[in-house]
Amino acid sequence: MSSPVIGVFALQGDVREHLHALRSAGADAVPVRRPGELAAVDGMVVPGGESTTMSRLSTVFELLDPIRERIADGMPVYGSCAGMIMLAGTVLDGRPDQESFGGIDMVVRRNAFGRQVDSFETDLVFNGVDGDPVHAVFIRAPWVESTGPDVEILARVSGGPADGRIVAVRQGNLLATSFHPELTGDLRVHGLFVEMVLRGLREPGLRGRGTTDERTIEEAVR
Ligand code: GLN
Repeated sequence: MSSPVIGVFALQGDVREHLHALRSAGADAVPVRRPGELAAVDGMVVPGGESTTMSRLSTVFELLDPIRERIADGMPVYGSCAGMIMLAGTVLDGRPDQESFGGIDMVVRRNAFGRQVDSFETDLVFNGVDGDPVHAVFIRAPWVESTGPDVEILARVSGGPADGRIVAVRQGNLLATSFHPELTGDLRVHGLFVEMVLRGLREPGLRGRGTTDERTIEEAVR
C-alpha cells in the first residue's frame, strides 16, 4: 500500500516541521492553501501558530467552509496547539470574531497556562502511544477545559500548577494536542495520526480525497 496523502494547513504556523514529521512517519505530506489542494488530501494537520490569524486567513482564502465540510464528511484531522483551538467547538479567551473549524465537542481555553508558565516542557502518559512517556513542548498553549461524552481524553498534565489539565483528546477521526510533537523528533503522535488516516480510508462511506470522481477506497489507499 502506498502512503496516504496528508495535507498541512499552510496559511500560517509551523508548517515545515509538520511536513517533515509526517514524511518521516510514512505519509506523502503536502501544504494546503487552497480549496483545490484540500480536495486532494486524505487527512490534514492544523499546525501550531496563532489561531486568530488562522481564523482570519481561512476566511480570506475561502478554506473555512470547505474544511468544515471535509470534517463533517469524516476527514481525519490532527490539530496541534493553535490547531487544537481550530478544532474546538467552543473557544474561551479568543477574539470575539474568532472562528474555528470545530468538530471536537470540547471547550478549549487559549493561552491557558498563564504568564509564568507560558512555555514549558513535561513528560506525559499518552493513551494510544506505546512505550515511554511523550516529551511534550508547550508554547503559549491552550488546555481543554471540558469535553462532551464522545470525546476520549488521551493525556493530562501530571504535577505542577496545571496538574490534571487535559492536553490531548480524540473524537472519531479528529485528534488534538495542546503541545508540539513536531518539535521533538518523536514521531509517535504523527504515527498515530497516519494510522488514523489509513483506517479512515478503509471506513465504508467515508469520503476521501478526490471523491468527485469515481475513485474507490482501494485506489485511494494503494
Ligand atoms: N496562543 C496561540 C493561539 O492562541 C497558540 C500557540 C501555539 O500554537 N504555539 O493560537
